[in-house]
Amino acid sequence: MKPPVALVSLGCSKNLVDSEVMLGLLDEAGYPIVEDNEDAQVVIVNTCAFIEPAVNEAIEALLDISELKKKGKLQALICAGCLSQRYQDDLLAELPEVDVFLTPGAVDQVVEAVQLALSGQREVMKAPLEYIYDAQTPRWRSAPSWLAYVKIAEGCDNRCAYCTIPSLRGRYRSRPVDDICDEFSNLAGGGAQEIVLIAHDTTRYGEEMEPPSSLAALLENLPTRDYNGWIRIMYMYPTRITTNLINAVGQSICTVPYFDIPFQHASQGILQRMGRAGDGEVYLHELAQIRRMIPDAALRTTLIAGLPGETEEDFEVLLDFVRQARFDRLGVFPYWPEPGTPAAEMEDQVPPEAARQRQEELISVQEQISLEKNEQFVGQRLRVLVEREIEEGVWAGRSYRDAPEVDAEVILRAASEGIRTNIGEFVWATVTKAQVHDLTAVVQG
Ligand code: SF4
Repeated sequence: MKPPVALVSLGCSKNLVDSEVMLGLLDEAGYPIVEDNEDAQVVIVNTCAFIEPAVNEAIEALLDISELKKKGKLQALICAGCLSQRYQDDLLAELPEVDVFLTPGAVDQVVEAVQLALSGQREVMKAPLEYIYDAQTPRWRSAPSWLAYVKIAEGCDNRCAYCTIPSLRGRYRSRPVDDICDEFSNLAGGGAQEIVLIAHDTTRYGEEMEPPSSLAALLENLPTRDYNGWIRIMYMYPTRITTNLINAVGQSICTVPYFDIPFQHASQGILQRMGRAGDGEVYLHELAQIRRMIPDAALRTTLIAGLPGETEEDFEVLLDFVRQARFDRLGVFPYWPEPGTPAAEMEDQVPPEAARQRQEELISVQEQISLEKNEQFVGQRLRVLVEREIEEGVWAGRSYRDAPEVDAEVILRAASEGIRTNIGEFVWATVTKAQVHDLTAVVQG
């Protein structure tokens, strides 16, 4: 009997897919997978190291779990993911509690990593950042059974001045259309009600392939004939949203009209400093086009406040952009100077306190917009994917406007006693109340 293995997945959904691939490979090799670290003889922590708080969270998780070694049951601790890539050989001295470090390019060597760690060796297992899984790779699903992420590409060829991702994940590489279609069929056939297409930049999909393909072509090819669930696309790069893509989303019965476009800023000067294309005017034009072609489109963005050199005028441009764009969902982060990125070396760093104040101001403007947007839904019927029971007769779910993890919820109430909903299935509900983020809706049964 092989020793049981547990895995802790930190960071984003792209990392979660890697975690599921590692667990799938270990399961195939005969290692029992357990949920609780206390029941495991080997624990893998799949880390994020995008920004300093994520690095700290990863180190804390590793140190916490290493305490289990003292109790005697845990024999080996493995650090996988971006932390291993970012700090590589330094980690052997810095984290003696960890046995083996596995970089993202070596995800498919996880079985060897476990064997190595159990044999008492310490090593950083490296490989070029070229790996990407395929539909045949075993996956041990750890997201809820109704939700699945499909990584359509890995890496990033953009060079945003504040971001470490390209150095952690390598050049952009797309999976073949047929391979993604095969995985889609497997997941849909296995009961996934929402399939989320992810990559660091989904709109670049297929550009580097020979012959080239596109996200629009991928959507048109997905085998959706018997699929009654949702397809959702995350992480679209602002200036790569083509008319073809908007058309493909609008015409696909399964693809929710949800556009997640991390604009990051709107001032031309700041966007140039960031190394990103476009400006607020171009972006507003694009949003108007999406709304013209798909009137019920839900628009989400993320922004960064306080990039070096961001003046009061730049910030006013950003505030004005948010007022005009009227996003359905918006996330905003204060700028964080990440060592090793060009932005961290820039002059005119904005004091962290000022960046946080700007973040709060943006949030406050958006909250009013969000409430007004939500109020427009009162009286409408929405299809909701039920995800959890709050109490008898009350559940929480998500509508097409809410991506998992990052957006809001629809609180569902039974119209009368005896009405039931099933977790992981869709219901239709009539919206009765709007709050800043969530909606309340009644299920008639
Ligand atoms: S698009 Fe920019 S911010 Fe996003 S992962 Fe690539 S480099 Fe980082």
